Order: sequence, then C-alpha cells, then structure tokens
Amino acid sequence: MPDLVDARRLVRERFGYADFRPGQEDLVRAALQGRDALGVLPTGGGKSLCYQVPALALGGLTLVLSPLVSLMEDQARRAEEAGIGVGVLNSARDPAERTRTMRETLGGRIQLLFVAPERLENEAFRAFLQRLPLRLIAVDEAHCISEWGHDFRPSYRRIGTLLAGVRDVPFMALTATATPEVREDIARVLSLRKLVEVVRSFDRPNLFWQVDRLKDRRARTGHAIRLVRGLEGPALVYAATRRQAEAFRRRLSQRGVSADVYHAGLDGQRRAAVQTAFLENHRRVVVATNAFGMGVDKPDVRLVLHLQLPGTLESYYQEAGRAGRDGEAASCVALFHAQDRLLTRRFIDHSRPPPGRLRRVHRRLRRTFPTGGATVLKALAEAVRVPDLRALVGVLGALERDGAILGHSAAGSLADLPPWPGQALEVLPLGAPDLRRARALRRSALGNLRSVRAFARTRACRRRNLLAYFGEGARARCGRCDRCAGPALVTS
Ligand code: ADP
Ligand code: MG
Repeated sequence: MPDLVDARRLVRERFGYADFRPGQEDLVRAALQGRDALGVLPTGGGKSLCYQVPALALGGLTLVLSPLVSLMEDQARRAEEAGIGVGVLNSARDPAERTRTMRETLGGRIQLLFVAPERLENEAFRAFLQRLPLRLIAVDEAHCISEWGHDFRPSYRRIGTLLAGVRDVPFMALTATATPEVREDIARVLSLRKLVEVVRSFDRPNLFWQVDRLKDRRARTGHAIRLVRGLEGPALVYAATRRQAEAFRRRLSQRGVSADVYHAGLDGQRRAAVQTAFLENHRRVVVATNAFGMGVDKPDVRLVLHLQLPGTLESYYQEAGRAGRDGEAASCVALFHAQDRLLTRRFIDHSRPPPGRLRRVHRRLRRTFPTGGATVLKALAEAVRVPDLRALVGVLGALERDGAILGHSAAGSLADLPPWPGQALEVLPLGAPDLRRARALRRSALGNLRSVRAFARTRACRRRNLLAYFGEGARARCGRCDRCAGPALVTS
C-alpha cells in the first residue's frame, strides 16, 4: 500500500508544490487507507489535488464526478499537466472520442476519469464501470447533492443509489460550501461509513467584508460606479440578472470605465474570450451573473462587488470568495436595499412553489395527460393560471424533483431545459410525502433568504455573522469589516 511519504513525493515531483496545503494531507491519507472522506475546503483550497494524488499513488482508476463540462475540462487539463492519464466523458465530446476514451480506460491507460453524474443513469455505463479496477470515487462540488443548500442537481442525489453495485470503493466528497446540515445530507445520500471528515476554516483573514445599505434604489448604479472607480485592481461585479449586468456595463463605460460582461446568454467563444481577457489583465472589470466563476482561478481579484445579495449565504460566500485568492488584501462589498429580497422571493416562488400551487398544476396535468403525450406549455400555463411561462417551468421542475412527473428529454431533466417546444410528459401520483417535502424545501429556501437579510442588516461583526452561518465560532470583532472598522471606501 502506498504511504504518505510516497504521496508527499508526488506532490513535490509531479505537481511542483512544496507540500500539502492544510486539509489535503488528511484527505489523501483517507483515500490511501481506503476510507470514505468528506472534505470541506474553501474555494481555492486545493480540492482537486486530494483526488489527483491518490489517482497516481493507488494505481487502478479514480472516477471523478463533476457537475460542469467547463470545470471538468479545466481540471482534466491541469491533471494532464501533472502527467496523469486523464479521460473525460461528457456531452461536449463526440461519440467517437468517447468510445476511444472508454477503450483507453479499459486498456489501463487512464488513471483519472471525469464524468457528469447524469452518465451514471446509463446502465451500459454502469456495466462498463464494473469492468474497471476502481480505487476511488471522488464527488466534486458535493454540495450539489443537497436540496438544502444551493446549486442542487437532481442527478447528484442518485449517485449513491446508482453506484450501490460498486460500493466497496471509497468515496471522497469535496465541496467549498457546506453548513452542518448539508454535510449530514452528503454523508447520508452517499452512505459514507466511518468517514474521515476534514473541515478547514472558512475564515479568509485577508478579505474585508462590507454591506452598503441604499436608502434609494436609484442610487445603486452611481454608488457601485464610485466603488469600482475608487478601489484599485481587478474587480468582479455580480449582477442579479443578465439585463442588470448589461445595463451596468453600459453605465460604467459612459463613466469611462471599460468593462466586459459575462453571462450564460453569450456564446461559449465570447465567454472564453472575456475570461481570458480578465485573467490576463487586459480588462480590469467584469460584470457578470452567477454564471461566472466556477473553475475560474484568478488570484489577484481585489474587489468583488455585488449589486445585490444573492438568495443564499453559500452563494454569496462562494462568489465573494473569488476575491484575494493570492492572500493579499481584497474587498467584498455588497449593496443592499430593503426591497431587494422581492426579486429572490419571486425566484423562490418559481423554483420552490407553495404546495397548493404544485397540487393545482399537478391535478391539471393529470387531467390533460392521463397517459402521457406532447404538450405546448404556453397553453398549459394559461390553463393552470400561473403568472407566466417561467413560473410554470419552475412548477414543473419542482414536480419533477418530487417525482410527480417524468420528462422524456435528451438531457434527462426538465429543469435543465429553458425553451419549451413541447415535450412528452408522464404524470405520476403526487403523494402527501411529496407535498411535505415541497413544503420543507420552500421553508428552507425562505430561511436561507432570511439569513442573507440578517447578514445585510446586522450591527455586529460581519465576519462573525458569516462564520457562524457556516458553523464556525469567531471573535466578537474581527477588525476587518465595515462594522468593526468602517467602510473600505467612503463614497458619498
Ligand atoms: P478548489 O477546487 O479547492 O477551489 P483547486 O483544486 O482548483 O481548488 O486549486 C486551487 C489552486 O491551488 C490551484 O491553482 C492549484 O494548483 C493550487 N494548489 C493546490 N494544492 C496546492 C499545494 N499543495 N501547494 C500549492 N498550490 C496548490
Ligand atoms: Mg474545485
């Protein structure tokens, strides 16, 4: 069995690092000992290394489940640079390429195989896994398992069940955001046994936390522009919507600050160009939606400015945490107006609708499609009297999550498909337990929103408030937030 001395040598020789970073060693040791592990390390903490080193040390195959094509490609490239035989199976690769990767994996030329959890739903793929010398299954961004946090992905929830057949292989679950509740959820869904739990501090002492309260919503843009102009260095501005991102970029440029905009509505090439220009310091400012970030590793961002706070503190912490990854001082500033919560509230009403609405839509669906069939959803939207098409998509997504309908689409999930050309639906019964769950999820989403509000409104230390949310104690006053030290920039 390989030991930590070998592992540390790999860190130096293959990756070129002086040593493990905090937390990495314990996770690697768990993998070498064949034990289940759950690692909660902050963004930039170096989670990838925790499965890359075992992939080299253990021989055989390490399977990595990863939620996004872009993340996968980025991690695969970095692992390749360390001389690891890497395979990627995702929808961005064409079938011939996928077949080749599978052949190479069977031939033992691949040590690290990246796939999206959706692929596990495929029986042929599971049979393929059975033929491989699996040593470790890493679940990256494992918080996607939990419906209580953010970024929930239905397919993540089925990982444990689908891999039951190969379950003598240890799991390593990795995430940057996990409240104690989410951690429990991860351990339960993956049936982690006698797990090694590694939770490193979330405190980032170099980050300065600040929330600026707006008395008038119309002051938002002007105030944000003053902040962007007043604080030096690369700046990342998060907007709540694409439209807000575009509008803010225009206003910035009118005031002589050139910026790029980044959101999921732009094509892949454009998005890549924006990322590169920012990474290589050709553009100081990017205005983005939450589509920007996962997998972006720019060390010297000096300001992350939120035009408004997102719906959960997990999202806020993850986005704001992209500041100052180099350890140098950086500011995280969020603007807040008393009515901002309405936007998030509307979003929650869409994605976690009240049980009564679920029941109504479900009844209507059953009447319309007793045995399944194609539908034009716009007509349906009118029929069930939900406010708009987006709301209906939300309701249907929620029904699907509750197992009350099955959508037969290429992606395998209704919620993943924004445009609705009409789709085959199979309407299943919606039971009392489903509705109870829907109610609990809605309550949890509303609770998350309350925590965001409490963070924005607290008169006490912001850092302490944030850390307490993640289950960590802290001193009463940190000295590095607007509450303890006054604002980083006085703008009016
Ligand atoms: P995470 O997934 O936790 O956000 P990554 O795995 O993407 O973080 O790693 C973040 C950065 O840290 C990468 O640039 C990586 O090369 C670097 N890194 C990881 N481990 C170490 C280490 N032991 N020493 C120095 N740098 C490291
Ligand atoms: Mg990562």
